[in-house]
Amino acid sequence: MELIGAQVAAPSQEALESPFPRLFDGMDLIALGAALPTPFHAYSANTIRQRISGLQAALDGLNAAICFAVKANPSLAILQIMAQSGLGADIVSSGELRRSLKAGIPANRIVFSGVGKTEAEMGEAIDVGVGRFNVESSEELEALQRAARTREAIVRASVRINPDVDAGTHDKISTGKSDNKFGVSITEARRWFAAVSCKENVRLDGLHVHIGSQILELEPFRQALHHVSVFWRELVLAGHSINSIDVGGGLGVVYRGARDKPVNVGDYVHTIREALTGFEGRIVLEPGRYLVAEAGILLTRVIRTKQGATRNFLIVDAAMNDLLRPSLYDAWHDIELIDEESDRNDLRPGTVYDIVGPVCETSDTFAIGRQLPQCRAGDLLAIRCTGAYGASMSSTYNSRPLAAEVLVDDGSYAVIRRRQSFDEMIAGEQAATLWRTA
Ligand SMILES: *Cc1c(COP(=O)(O)O)cnc(C)c1O
Repeated sequence: MELIGAQVAAPSQEALESPFPRLFDGMDLIALGAALPTPFHAYSANTIRQRISGLQAALDGLNAAICFAVKANPSLAILQIMAQSGLGADIVSSGELRRSLKAGIPANRIVFSGVGKTEAEMGEAIDVGVGRFNVESSEELEALQRAARTREAIVRASVRINPDVDAGTHDKISTGKSDNKFGVSITEARRWFAAVSCKENVRLDGLHVHIGSQILELEPFRQALHHVSVFWRELVLAGHSINSIDVGGGLGVVYRGARDKPVNVGDYVHTIREALTGFEGRIVLEPGRYLVAEAGILLTRVIRTKQGATRNFLIVDAAMNDLLRPSLYDAWHDIELIDEESDRNDLRPGTVYDIVGPVCETSDTFAIGRQLPQCRAGDLLAIRCTGAYGASMSSTYNSRPLAAEVLVDDGSYAVIRRRQSFDEMIAGEQAATLWRTA
């Protein structure tokens, strides 16, 4: 295929017709791009609120709590939106705990997940009154018991079930197969409940399941919920009281407008209702990506074009340190030229580019063989659907300071994280002058 690097003579109208408006939560992206140096992340507050209220509406009538998976986007201003909407948080570290509390999420609406909680982290969570621990191994259950006993506290815990279900998603974001590190088998969980009376400070009264992320089919959810539901009924018959069933997160979003067909949230909730008919405790949902991914874009400018031997490169000022998903998961993100004359396609013939960042890694590639209107240095591009696992996974690799983040709400914007300065980036580093012998 010798398309690559070549100009496509007659771009189809469809290919160039942008599916995305230039307006972003009432804000003209050209104006926003002119107001702030690129690259930066922008989030639409209204998109997040709509996602939340849509999910809340679907859950109407259920005893359900939404705990936002903080790792998807831990920005304080984003967490404040969650707090204002009455959401709780699903956390995996002491840092996420502190962020959630700082944003105003009450401790009793926080669930603590993750395979590697340290005893110190558990202790801190107990001290502030975290609502529930999702426990992933018997060793962790022992540690939780010790931490609670030391504090003379009684804590609530759920066992995270690994239902051995294939979520049909990327291997690196699949978590519910028996060879993944997450959760325990139902056989093992059964033993935990049988021995529950030996854990005096842990009230084991919940089930938890989270099978993976970016799931675009209902079926894996249905299967996982089926396993959980059968096990819950068995436990009740055996005399255990189950007060919480946490169905995890994982709802997929549209990364590729022309292809991804996400699960309808109403159908998803219907599946939960069906599986858990008769359950009178609290149903917990832990969506991350679903609430924030489509609300975010990464704005970046073209530094220059480069005609390689076989590829046509578009070199932009964002890089894998700002958005890791394409490098880490081969993830697709729609990318769009934000152009004053976007209605004048004749001015810019369609061109096929590899869109790459400045970082010294071949994997610093946002897209391969992507058709865009012909670009030049200084052009503004929007990388779409970056609100989840975007800024939250960023690093300072290649000594690139962390990008700014802005929240856009009805035509105005607020910087919610300023671009990291060089001094902030190196804060804490020092020359090796103070030597010790441990
Ligand atoms: C990451 C994670 C989530 C959120 O997953 P999404 O795919 O972003 O919805 C929920 N629960 C647990 C335990 C997680 O690890």
